[in-house]
Amino acid sequence: MQLQGIIASEGISIGKLKKIGFKKIYTEKGSKAKEVFSILKQNLINKIESTKNISKETNEIFEIYKAILMDPYFEELIDKNLENGDNLSESIEASTVEIIDLMSSTNAYMKERSSDIQRLGIVLQNPINEIESGKFIFYNDSLAVIDFLSINVNLIEGIITQNGSKISHLAIWARNNNIPYVYNIDTTKLTDNSDSVITKDGKLIIEPPAEILNQLKEEKINRIKIIEKSMYFQKKNLFYKNKKITIAANIGSLEDGYVAAERKVNGVGLFRTEFMFLAKDEPLSEEEQYKIYKETANLFNDTVIIRTLDIGGDKELKYLNLEKELNPFLGIRGLRLSLEFRDLFKIQLRAILRAAYECNNIAIMFPMVTIEDEIKKAKSIIEECKKELSRENKNYKVPSIGIMIEVPSAALNADNLIESVDFMSIGTNDLIQYTMAMDRTNNKVSYLYLPHNNAVIKLIKNVIDVCHQNKKWVGMCGSMACEMIYYPLLLELGLDEFSMESSQISFINMYHTYLMEHNIANILPWNEKKIEILQNLLDDFWIWLKEKNFSRGGIIS
Ligand code: PEP
Ligand code: MG
Repeated sequence: MQLQGIIASEGISIGKLKKIGFKKIYTEKGSKAKEVFSILKQNLINKIESTKNISKETNEIFEIYKAILMDPYFEELIDKNLENGDNLSESIEASTVEIIDLMSSTNAYMKERSSDIQRLGIVLQNPINEIESGKFIFYNDSLAVIDFLSINVNLIEGIITQNGSKISHLAIWARNNNIPYVYNIDTTKLTDNSDSVITKDGKLIIEPPAEILNQLKEEKINRIKIIEKSMYFQKKNLFYKNKKITIAANIGSLEDGYVAAERKVNGVGLFRTEFMFLAKDEPLSEEEQYKIYKETANLFNDTVIIRTLDIGGDKELKYLNLEKELNPFLGIRGLRLSLEFRDLFKIQLRAILRAAYECNNIAIMFPMVTIEDEIKKAKSIIEECKKELSRENKNYKVPSIGIMIEVPSAALNADNLIESVDFMSIGTNDLIQYTMAMDRTNNKVSYLYLPHNNAVIKLIKNVIDVCHQNKKWVGMCGSMACEMIYYPLLLELGLDEFSMESSQISFINMYHTYLMEHNIANILPWNEKKIEILQNLLDDFWIWLKEKNFSRGGIIS
């Protein structure tokens, strides 16, 4: 049986299927129920406390779980529901829902994380997700990071769900840990212990024929070698047609910066600063931001591009008390919001200007720019910040200033906007959403996410050409930059910088090496029918990799 899913974290998995994340039913009532609850609670707290090596975001969620578990109010709710006649399972479920309702009404971050919190009730009732040995492909209709709490990451061969998204917390966690994860698979068709594989194009094959299995085993070994070998390769410069190509990391926190630096990435093409704000109930102070920006920049030799807040759309900051919008993705978001909340904007700009004085590799980038006037206004606020900082005798420097190109009109009008900025970075996640009129958060229209569509490529080409005509550099920090199939096309179009989650960089590095030795002509002028040429190139690359004997020095030594 073969099922096609959507890739949230690309890779190859080979293992037996195992269902996790389901709850056991506890039918105990009254005082026996209270006894069992305190054991379940303590077990989970112990596990949370003994969990190590997790990302900042995961840690934050685990801290929330712990706080809920230890909160006397949670216990009161459990008792109240038990007294009303619920059994223990019913009481845990009802109490978790009450906690979510309470938290969602006070904090936007909690609201976004409600599916994670909902799973607390399930994990609390299923504390036996402990796998001693063997690697499994874990599945269930919905899963969250907490379902993997008791499992050593090295034993997680892959993840399959019915519901999911590329931007879910689980997807980000899987990518960071190089765990293949595919969603949109009908999990009711799956049974435990069947031998299965996940392919790199998002298929789940149950009981695969021996030939396919052997082929995938070989490919998988090669991929592991690529990751290991390209670690030191990432320090080297890449060139295409005598031009230096920069590969940089996308980060959302200082901790992500440390992970990228450990992976030997040279710079940051996108620091999504809003994630730090979404994790708190109040804005970060100038001093907090200044320290974070400085520490992040010090981790890298190359440029670190700090993007100012991109709040709005699907990222809501409760404490701003924004009016509900009918079309939030078309409303007050990105730079539009910063210009409206000048005080918040000024605190961030002052922090960046001060950090830039200390670190000369900082650059600043504005998101969701639509017209030139917005850039002018943002720059005039920078002038105000300069005056204030001078008056306060604080050191500052204005770094290079760039904008994201995410709005089709800005891409078409790049020749007008370029005069006001030092660089541009193409945000394809939004550019494609707005060009194809497809909500990036809606699974049902995800078939319209077509980076190679003629209209999208025309916009990208225009931005690249305009930047080069004006002797400025242009990068890309949307997901298209790390989708390997498009890499040769973007190289041919002349893109200078590719920025992506740091776990994805190894493969782009290797593909670049391959392309240097092979002919990639006939891609331009672009026509979407040529996607076949790109697919063939990528298929040939995987075959080429297989033919190389990595153990004898490999191809990148
Ligand atoms: C983009 O739109 O491509 C982008 C990088 O920004 P974000 O995904 O944060 O909206
Ligand atoms: Mg965007």
